Amino acid sequence: VHNARNPNTQSLKIEGIKDIIAVASGKGGVGKSTTAVNLAVSLAKRCQLKVGLLDADIYGPSIPLMMQLKGKPELGNGDALTTFIFYRKMIPIESYGVKCISIGSLVDEREAIVWRGPMVMKALEQLTRGVDWGILDVLVIDMPPGTGDAQISISQRLQLSGGLIVSTPQDVALLDARRGVKMFSKVNVPILGILENMSYFKCPKCNESSYIFGQGGARKTAAEMGLKFLGEIPLEVEIRSGSDEGVPIVMSKPDSIISQAYGEVAEKV
Ligand code: ADP
Repeated sequence: VHNARNPNTQSLKIEGIKDIIAVASGKGGVGKSTTAVNLAVSLAKRCQLKVGLLDADIYGPSIPLMMQLKGKPELGNGDALTTFIFYRKMIPIESYGVKCISIGSLVDEREAIVWRGPMVMKALEQLTRGVDWGILDVLVIDMPPGTGDAQISISQRLQLSGGLIVSTPQDVALLDARRGVKMFSKVNVPILGILENMSYFKCPKCNESSYIFGQGGARKTAAEMGLKFLGEIPLEVEIRSGSDEGVPIVMSKPDSIISQAYGEVAEKV
């Protein structure tokens, strides 16, 4: 993915960052943050890239828990922007080789939930240009769920190289995923593809796979919309426990089929 593909003239350029990928979903609870975390760590470990992870989910920032970020980001020594103003940037907290910043470290979630686009952008500007990211190959953004005002503002203003849509297989979720695709298209952000999460459950006793939410839904939707299908991630206890314990599955079980699947997503994008 390359910035040059996004002709959006209003967007903010962040110096030192080559590409920005947004991980989005039409609705909450489908595994968007889980995907953002495992993708970012895979890009760092497997693809050996310099990676940042920005938690922009104002409705429920979960990166601090999932990446075990402790405390608040420290402030750097400051740059002299003009003779009079010294601007101290935040230093990202590094975890599993990924430089992380969460909106949760900056604001009270109960306040941020009612923000409209301009307020979100103000906070986002602090979280992007107000951070000493250094040189990054890729910044992964965990977007707020949905396709409203805040999401459109982010997609429009940050110079996104591409957007990845996460969806579960049910029709209702896929309907929302289509809205996510349309949102990115409207602001000229290339779609990297659709990743299906919670695709099936493999019984640990009999080894049989059950397609709890239906089979092949996201693959079909991707084909219908002419988009890349990025793969299937099963419903798996270790994904959930890894998130809750702050050890992403690609770290705890790097050789598992699931970690391979995340690795393939990282290579595809
Ligand atoms: P979102 O960011 O879309 O709101 P999260 O990534 O926070 O969703 O996931 C919601 C919950 O579902 C979390 O508890 C997470 O650990 C769990 N979860 C996500 N994907 C899976 C999966 N494939 N298998 C099991 N649990 C999952």
